[in-house]
Amino acid sequence: MIAATSLPGQPQALDWQRALADAIADPAELCAVLGLDPALVEPAFAAAREFPLRVPRGYVARMRHGDPRDPLLLQVLPAAAELAAAADFTGDPVGDLDSSAAPGLLHKYEGRALVVTTGACAVHCRYCFRRHFPYAEQSALRQGWQPVIARLQADPSIHEVILSGGDPLSLSDRRLTQLTDELQAVRHVRRLRIHTRYPVVLPERVDAGLLKWLARVPLQKVVVIHANHANEIDEQVRRACSDLIAVGATLLNQSVLLAGVNDSAVTLATLSESLFAARVLPYYLHLLDKVQGAAHFDVDERRALQLHRELTARLPGYLVPRLVREIAGEPAKTAVVAGRKSRLLSGAVEEASAAFDRIDRLDLRERSGE
Ligand code: SF4
Repeated sequence: MIAATSLPGQPQALDWQRALADAIADPAELCAVLGLDPALVEPAFAAAREFPLRVPRGYVARMRHGDPRDPLLLQVLPAAAELAAAADFTGDPVGDLDSSAAPGLLHKYEGRALVVTTGACAVHCRYCFRRHFPYAEQSALRQGWQPVIARLQADPSIHEVILSGGDPLSLSDRRLTQLTDELQAVRHVRRLRIHTRYPVVLPERVDAGLLKWLARVPLQKVVVIHANHANEIDEQVRRACSDLIAVGATLLNQSVLLAGVNDSAVTLATLSESLFAARVLPYYLHLLDKVQGAAHFDVDERRALQLHRELTARLPGYLVPRLVREIAGEPAKTAVVAGRKSRLLSGAVEEASAAFDRIDRLDLRERSGE
């Protein structure tokens, strides 16, 4: 990861780089800072051996002291449940590896291609669907941008490039500039989409250098942030979002529906309201991708539909995110909608109508004196 301090002759580390280097990576320290039961430390160490802990201190400051069920803590604290095997939970739940078009480039959906820029993130989310992704072979940064650019050049159907990872804003401004300079040579690319959790977990990243870079990118710009709970959104996050909008980005949010974190209609409605106050539109509410180690976060589809229905009843339509699931091999995200709900409930509807038929027949027999 990026070093905390600069070596002699190297440029000074920026504020965000210092904050990143200072992130908490030791479960014992995280539990001590939050005044949590030390019994949580040992299982956290065991789970962190599979997928290390990483959480910026500014994000920790938004957690409730002494509360092991804090919704932000649950997203980042390694837990014993991650080590339990679960049927249907795999290393690559969304078929990323089958959609590799070049090292560091995934091509799943028509018109769009996704660059796995780097494996580095500011935070390690325990439910991350790429927690087992082989970044060493599949990151564009490691392989150089050229294979990605060559593949994009060769496919005029691609109009939108998505920078993902890991988190693309882990890259320095210099590397981002190199990448977008090369992208500009691909004439058929019109839109740049950035998937990032930085504005939420380490908003210091949205600094003058990043804004200058983004302002100069001559493409339509969409920044999709990732917040799961309203407690993640504070004044600094709102300022970062506002700064991104000021340089021409459209801001959207994607969330993951997580048991114990945001699986209530009130929590989801408050999140939507907080996002809108930060001028961000709720875009997707994802059902959990079934990645090995995250089964304890799963919310079943029936419950998810019920929550979504309650959310729809509480909020204006523009604040209701689309409930979706990613299914490997499908040409788009699969909407989990009323039609699906109808199928889920069709058994009950059929039973009810059969009962009404029986009552009607009895009624007719009675009236005909049978
Ligand atoms: S920031 Fe995104 S890519 Fe990184 S661990 Fe979290 S969910 Fe995964």
